[in-house]
Amino acid sequence: MNNKTITAYVRPEMTTFKGYSACKSPEVIAKKLGIRECDVVKLDANENNYGPSPRVSKALSGYTNYHIYPDAAQTELRHELERYTGMPADQIVAGSGSDQLIELLIKLFATHGDEIITMGPSFPMYRFYAILAGVKVVDVPRNEDFYIDLDKIKSAVTDKTKLIFLANPNNPTGTLTSSADVRALAQIGVPLVVDEAYYEFTNETAVSLMSEFDNVMILRTFSKWSGLAGLRIGYGIFPPAIAGYSHAIRDPYNVNITALTAIKESFCDLDYLMSNVREIISERERLIARLNEVSWLKVYPSRANFILCYLLQGDASAVQQKLEDRGILVRCYADDVIKNCIRISIGKPDENDKLFDALNGIWG
Ligand code: PMP
Repeated sequence: MNNKTITAYVRPEMTTFKGYSACKSPEVIAKKLGIRECDVVKLDANENNYGPSPRVSKALSGYTNYHIYPDAAQTELRHELERYTGMPADQIVAGSGSDQLIELLIKLFATHGDEIITMGPSFPMYRFYAILAGVKVVDVPRNEDFYIDLDKIKSAVTDKTKLIFLANPNNPTGTLTSSADVRALAQIGVPLVVDEAYYEFTNETAVSLMSEFDNVMILRTFSKWSGLAGLRIGYGIFPPAIAGYSHAIRDPYNVNITALTAIKESFCDLDYLMSNVREIISERERLIARLNEVSWLKVYPSRANFILCYLLQGDASAVQQKLEDRGILVRCYADDVIKNCIRISIGKPDENDKLFDALNGIWG
């Protein structure tokens, strides 16, 4: 017997790990405010408030084989994705959200002491998984308008750099990196992950670079365009060898039966889902125009399903709280990397109106 407590066995670096600061649950907010959960206006997690295709719940309610494991080879799913992306099924790997594929790529390429390059402010999960793997994050900050700085990125590359992560468009800024700059990143030669979580809102993709460069990998998700964030489904398009290694190291049943069923139904209802995407884009433009009228906000251009606003007056966390008190949830950024901003996900027209009226009510 020794006298050590169980916590003494925990990896020391894990004891100071901060974790991901996830959004508050609408259920908790509704209870706190004494309102119905359906009256909470959720604009804080870049979800799709139009929801999934109605075919999804119909198919799931009639589904009977929940007792059987899903297809570990993801055969049908990868063929559906081949049709959707135009890329061969043997280059496609699906995951439980694209988050899981970010983790997988870090595991595959980097180990203790290696480095990844990120371009902050960006999606925090790159850092999250890198730190868990003992991998150092070399962040090359974006410029004032949130465009990437190619020269600085090139000079940040060392022998230890194993991956470069580019979110395109970027979250939380909405910035789209030009195809010329994405190509320049690929030319560096280090494995490049182009995270296209918001692809359907831009129609811009680095897929064509894959035939020219063998270091380019693409990540996508069903969370945004098809309204399936809760089912956790993402996929990667990788060079054939990398797809092979990825299948070998991924959890065998990482995409569950409900997710597989939901995707199949979503692909049968593409017109419906894409009309929602078009609606979200037009709502984004309408909201940007209205927010530009608010004197105390600086609105950044966005090619995604959210808008980042810098507060020229007042405090972002106070504004977030005032909105929350009215049952409207937005994301607040108030650290050194991204100061005094709120990020507003695009909702349905009535939700966007409520948000706008509430913002106007804060300081008139
Ligand atoms: N990448 C980016 C840039 C994102 O914004 C998000 C979701 N917020 C993800 C990946 C993760 O998506 P998923 O729900 O598929 O894990």
